[in-house]
Amino acid sequence: MGGPEIERLIDLLAKLPGLGPRSARRATLALLRQPQVRLLPLASAMQQAARVVRSCALCGNLDSCDPCTICNDPGRDRSLICVVEGVGDLWALERAGVHRGLYHVLGGTLSPLGGVGPEDLNLSPLLARIEGGETREVILALGATVEGATTAHWLNERLAASRIAVSRVGQGVPMGGALDVLDDGTLAAALTARRPA
Ligand code: ZN
Repeated sequence: MGGPEIERLIDLLAKLPGLGPRSARRATLALLRQPQVRLLPLASAMQQAARVVRSCALCGNLDSCDPCTICNDPGRDRSLICVVEGVGDLWALERAGVHRGLYHVLGGTLSPLGGVGPEDLNLSPLLARIEGGETREVILALGATVEGATTAHWLNERLAASRIAVSRVGQGVPMGGALDVLDDGTLAAALTARRPA
């Protein structure tokens, strides 16, 4: 086969989620066959993204501005914060257009067995935001997993003394990046059918 440059490209692509060595080889071939329309624009888009994309200091979303476009949007309901595990969940909810408030990305879920404690997640900034004042309701859009339930329980206990309503989206909705597979109607229904946590 080709030189080390090609091998390196295949190796890097094969490490991406959803791609294995076989898809990585096919993708590499497609890129190399059309360097002007595929390879170079991709390389340049990647460099550009690496230079400008950051985590939003307020919510943890990825954007080229900080605070992010959502946090900066004056049309958003600032009294509502939807808590998600990952940016993939935020993207899915935004694509479906079902949430008109703000978000908070935890970067995972609590897992006592897996050694993930509150300090490993973006939890303190969430509590600080809530203490900041404007929040009326926190919607937990966390996975229907043991870790999702543990995280919901932890947050619920922390917020129990406050006057803030804590709700959870409809059960059985796969989160943690898995929201992608749901159609917009199902997502909207899950958010509408939220109930006290
Ligand atoms: Zn933000």
